[in-house]
Amino acid sequence: MPELPEVETTVRGLAPVLEGHRIESIELHRADLRRPFPVDLRQRLTGATVTRLSRRAKYGLIDTDRGDTLVFHLGMSGSWRLDPQQIGKHDHLVIETDAGRRLALNDPRRFGSVDLVPTETLDQAEPFAGMGPEPLGESFDGRYLQRVLKGRKAPIKPLLLDQRLVAGLGNIYVCDALNLAAIAPGREGGKISKPRLDRLADAIKSVLVEAIEAGGSSLRNFVRPDGELGYFSSKWRVYGREGEPCPRCASPVRRRTDGGRSTFYCAKCQR
Ligand SMILES: [Zn+2]
Repeated sequence: MPELPEVETTVRGLAPVLEGHRIESIELHRADLRRPFPVDLRQRLTGATVTRLSRRAKYGLIDTDRGDTLVFHLGMSGSWRLDPQQIGKHDHLVIETDAGRRLALNDPRRFGSVDLVPTETLDQAEPFAGMGPEPLGESFDGRYLQRVLKGRKAPIKPLLLDQRLVAGLGNIYVCDALNLAAIAPGREGGKISKPRLDRLADAIKSVLVEAIEAGGSSLRNFVRPDGELGYFSSKWRVYGREGEPCPRCASPVRRRTDGGRSTFYCAKCQR
C-alpha cells in the first residue's frame, strides 16, 4: 500500500514530465475510482498548463495555471505509469502532454481517488481541513508532540495514525519509527517524556527520509519496462519482519493484530 514516501517518490517522478507542460488530452476509461471522477475533469484540465507538483499527507497535488489543483490518492494499489506501451484495463485515467508524454493512473483495486479543487481553497477543503502538520515539516518536533499528546490516554500508535495530529503517517512507518525510538506501541501517549518525544519526532523524520531516498534511487536506477513510478522494496526495520531480529537488540520481532491491523514491535527494547 502506498504510504507517504511512495507518494513523495511518485510526485518527484511525475514533476519533470508535467511541470511547465500543457495537458493535450485527458482520457477517462471509467466513471469512478473510490468515488466518481469530477464531471468537468476533462474540460477543466484539457489545455491547462501544469505549474507545480507537490504532496500533502498521502495526496499528490497537481496545480494548473487555471487555478485548479488535481488531488490524487493512490488508495491501496494505485500507481502512475509513465509512457505505457499499451493502455491496460486498470489504466483508468490517461494524461497526454504537449511533449507527447503519457501518464496512466493505474489502480486495480480502485480505492484511489481523483478530485479537482480550487488551489486557493485547498487548505480548507476535505480532506485537508483540520489536518495536522507534515511530519517532515519544521513545526513537527518533540515540543509539538508534547503539546498535542498532553493528557491523552490512548496508546501512542493510534495517536500517530490520527491525521489530525500529524498528516500522512501510516502503519508501516509508525511501526518502524516506534522501534527506532525504542517506544512501545501501547505506551500511553500523554505519559511519554519530552526527551523521548524528541527522539520519536526525529525517528519519524528519519524513517521517512530514508524511504524517500531509497525510492529516489530506485527511480534513477531502475526504469522499469512498464514505467511504473513510486514502488520499490523498502528495507523496513520491523514492519513485516515477525520473528526476525530487532535491529536494536536482536530479540525476535513480534506481531500483534488489533482491528485487522498488524503492529510489529520488539517487546524487549521498546518501552
Ligand atoms: Zn529490540
